[in-house]
Parts: sequence; structure tokens; C-alpha cells
Amino acid sequence: MKKATQLKVDIGRIKSDILTLAAIGKNEHDRGIYRPAFSAEDMAGKRWLLHRIEENGLTPASDGAANISGILKGECDSPRVFVGSHIDTVPCAGMLDGTLGVVVGLECLRAISAAGISPKQTLELIAFSDEEGRFGGTFGSEAFTGTLTMEKVERATDLGGTRLWDAMLAHGLDPMKSLDARRRPEEINAYLELHIEQGPILDQKNLQAGIVESITGLRSWSLRFKGEANHAGTTPMDYRKDAFMGLADFAHEVPRILEENGSQNSRATIGKAEILPGAPNSVPGAVEFSLDFRDPSTQVLTDLSQAFQKALAAISRRRGLMFEFNVQGEIHPVSSDERLTAMLEKNAKDLGIDALRMLSGAAHDAQLVGRIAPMAMVFVPSKGGLSHSPSEWTAWEDIEAGANLMLATLHELAMHPLE
Ligand SMILES: [Zn+2]
Repeated sequence: MKKATQLKVDIGRIKSDILTLAAIGKNEHDRGIYRPAFSAEDMAGKRWLLHRIEENGLTPASDGAANISGILKGECDSPRVFVGSHIDTVPCAGMLDGTLGVVVGLECLRAISAAGISPKQTLELIAFSDEEGRFGGTFGSEAFTGTLTMEKVERATDLGGTRLWDAMLAHGLDPMKSLDARRRPEEINAYLELHIEQGPILDQKNLQAGIVESITGLRSWSLRFKGEANHAGTTPMDYRKDAFMGLADFAHEVPRILEENGSQNSRATIGKAEILPGAPNSVPGAVEFSLDFRDPSTQVLTDLSQAFQKALAAISRRRGLMFEFNVQGEIHPVSSDERLTAMLEKNAKDLGIDALRMLSGAAHDAQLVGRIAPMAMVFVPSKGGLSHSPSEWTAWEDIEAGANLMLATLHELAMHPLE
């Protein structure tokens, strides 16, 4: 058997696939790519991918959630070793977010097959639908892992009011079949995903790859302080129930709460606020704002939740306000499988790639899969940390290094799946 690190990817082919896909949904005016999930452009991307899978001698397939697969059969067909990401984009996207992981996965399977290697375990490339969230996000990986509900399929709408249901029907897809995309944990031996970092760390440290140890969890709240609107001229300062002052106090407490109750990976952001009634000559009667906080530990997220609520209650008492909050969203943190991260670290070393163990601050399809099966992710550097923009970029030699690390690890797993 060839040593796992001897096989090499063809960077020319990766480049050509990325550039071909980048032309689908490209807006010549702003140079951005527009392939929101279940748009005509997204469907064209999916058709191109199916065709490309077939051209490369792999077996093309798609499921009820319109996830696209390319299969390289092994002696043992289940459980399978998966490699994946997504090809849908945010509006005005760059060419690498998601796409890179799919194109690299395709190249890895092609390279293994072209080397005449017959895998012991079946390898499957998968491109998940709507990771970016036109209809809420991670639709394909939720269907794949069995966390999607029919209620969500029926309710999901985009910002323009188009229903997911209608968008699927318009492309001849049956939304009723979305839940059929489910795979059971025992059908998944391992899941690997390569993705651009979308942050500045690898670029700043001048490293070629990151091995993700965990993906951060997220809680997002909408909050409201209620006080009393009153005349800005006639209401004495100590008679006021000024809702904005409540927010100002709270914003000021956020760094202290993170320091006392969080970890070094904790983040908290008040990204949106509205003062009501919103007149220069009125004492604010209410203020509505958002709070987004993240940490890779569920315990820390719970501690932070309690500390935020305690602070909100204390501020309300002090200023004669009432507060209410609603949970808008919750994403559970997930850890990578230690056997997979160890395998990636060893292969990086053999390939002479400087890799950093790190945390993912953004959500990915891997976060869903990691809840039911062994998962690991590889990051490649994002130039200047930029993402969700046409300026998103990674040097070809870094892409090649990351792709070779994926290839060595997929080759190893194909021959020696996780026990
Ligand atoms: Zn992505």
C-alpha cells in the first residue's frame, strides 16, 4: 500500500473547478457571486457538480433535501467516510466559502480513484443544501442528521417572503421528501470538512492550516428594557425611568461578565438597538436590542446566560425598569473527534505543513454532523481574515497544502476506518 501522504492532489484541476463554479451566479457589476439556496443559479451549480462527479468516474446521487453526493465504492459500503461542505452562497459572496471544501473533496476522491486504489470503506463526497441560510441555514445537514422537522420545512421563508416549499417545487423537488435525506449515526464512520478560516488567525501567524478542535456554540437573544417615556425638559433626572440608560449600563457590564463568567474564547455582541419612541426631546420609554454570545463550552454558555440575566435584573431594579428577553436562536457547541484531529496532525507533520489547533468561531455543516458522528475540520488561511465578500481569498499554495492534508487523511480512513 502507498503511504497515505504520497498521494498528491492536482492543484490545476482544483483551480479550474473553483473558477468554473465561480462563474455560475457571478454578477459582473459588483464581482460578487449570487447562488442563494434553491435559486436558479444554485440549481445550476448543483447540476454542474453532478456532471463533474460523473465525469470523474464517481457515482453521482442526490437525496430528498437536494444534497449532492459523489460516491467512490469500497469493499465495505457502510458505514461510509464522508467529506463535504456546501456550494450555496450568501448574496455577493466570494468564490471559496463552502465551494472550496466541495471541490477539494471531489479532487481527493478522484485522486484516490485515479491512483488505482480500491478503498476498503466507501467514500462519499456531499454538498449540503442551504448552509448559508436563505431559508434559515444548515438545511441540508439538518436533514442529513435527522434534526430537520416537517414543521420547519413548511414554515421556512426567505427575506423576500418566498417559501422554501415553493422554491423547491419550482425546481421539481418534492419538499415532502426532505426528511428522507436522513442518515443514521451507524452509517457514518467519519466526516471531514475543509473550509476557509473566515478569520485572521492563520494569515497573521503565517500558517498554512488549522485543525479545528471545536466549533463554538451560540445563543442569540432579543431583549427589551421598558421604562417610561416622558418630556426631556420637564422630567427631573432622578424621576426618570430611562430605558436607554438601562442599555448603557448593561453594555458597560458585558466585558466584566465575560471576564468573570466566560472563557478566553467567549464573545458577546450587542449588534442592534432601537430607542423608543426615538425622539430627541423624549426620555426613552423603551429600548429593544439584540445580544449574541458564543463559547465552545455549554457550561460556560449557561453561566453567561445566568450572569446576563442577573445583571439585567439588577439594572432594572436600580433604574425602575422592567426587562424581558426572548431566545431567538441556539446552536450547540461541538468538539472534533480526537482520533481524527490526531490523524490530521500526524499527516500535517509528514507533509511538512505547519498546522495550528484552533477553534471555529463560525457555524458549519460539520457542527450538525459532529453531534451524531465523529467529525473534524481543516481550515486554510483567509487573506486579511475576509469572508462573505468578493475579496475573500486564499493563496493557491495554501489551498494545495490543505487539500493534500485532506487527501492523506481520507486515504488513511478509506483503508483504516475509525474502529
Ligand atoms: Zn461556509
